[in-house]
Amino acid sequence: AKRSGRNRHSFFTADLEARSARTLALENALHRALERQQFELHYQPQVSLHTRQIVGAEALLRWRHPELGMVSPAEFIPVAENSGMIVAIGEWVLRTAARDAKHWLDQQLPLRTVSVNLSAIQFRHPQLPDMVSRCLHEANLCASHLELELTEGAAVDDPDAALTVMQQLHERGARLSMDDFGTGYSSLNQLKRFPLGKLKIDQSFVRDVSVDASDRAIISAIIRMAQAMDMTTTAEGVETEEQLAFLLEQGCDEGQGYLFSRPVPALAFEALLRAKNA
Ligand code: C2E
Ligand code: CA
Ligand code: CA
Ligand code: CA
Repeated sequence: AKRSGRNRHSFFTADLEARSARTLALENALHRALERQQFELHYQPQVSLHTRQIVGAEALLRWRHPELGMVSPAEFIPVAENSGMIVAIGEWVLRTAARDAKHWLDQQLPLRTVSVNLSAIQFRHPQLPDMVSRCLHEANLCASHLELELTEGAAVDDPDAALTVMQQLHERGARLSMDDFGTGYSSLNQLKRFPLGKLKIDQSFVRDVSVDASDRAIISAIIRMAQAMDMTTTAEGVETEEQLAFLLEQGCDEGQGYLFSRPVPALAFEALLRAKNA
């Protein structure tokens, strides 16, 4: 932006300009990221809390830019959503995750599901169910090996439309889970109608479990509710044995977190699968 007067240029606008300059740079670079093959998927093991065996993996998107370096999805996913690019990027994620899952299953590696995050924008895209079917078909992957992670934000605006899309995905055989559960605004009344197989307990509740009694109460309530509604639970952000012990005691089924493994590149995940599930 052109500066017309030094005095009018406050700290506030300087900060705002710096931030929007970064956003603009990201947005421009993002336009070429797909064709330049700058994306990769990392996989974080999802572990059975009882056996500590790997049962699944969550695909997490990574963007390696030559000048900007590794850009965090927390930073570029919102930019991709605002520009609509998330639809094409999301399709790449799904296609790649389906191909990787097929590759592992073909080697008889014990893997139930690969989970893919869906943004609320993708979720509202009318072609989503067809896109999912196409990616599964291309990879020759059975839909039951795919889990789609939704956030409560996907359903707040129009719960009836969201229910219809969930039913379409469910009918095609994909599993659905609710991500970051407890941080959004979905009502229990809606929740019971959704064909969800799993609730993922947000890491903000898990983090302070050893010091915060209300976090313990929330986790306990989520697990009991999921059990009553015939859903499984996965705790996110499990970092300590202490957290694991509490989750086990409460009957949580699965966990993800640095205690088990950070997200790792596909090849490293494959090695983990061989080593830990041998
Ligand atoms: P999320 O879906 O809730 O993913 C979990 C995040 O927690 C990941 O961050 C993961 O690396 C991090 N994490 C895992 N274990 C631990 C732990 O023990 N402690 C802590 N502190 N963090 C842990 P990441 O990979 O940076 O992704 C951030 C968010 O970006 C994701 O949150 C998800 O909302 C979004 N995202 C990532 N990949 C995709 C994608 O392919 N599509 C869409 N739409 N969103 C994505
Ligand atoms: Ca997720
Ligand atoms: Ca999450
Ligand atoms: Ca999150």
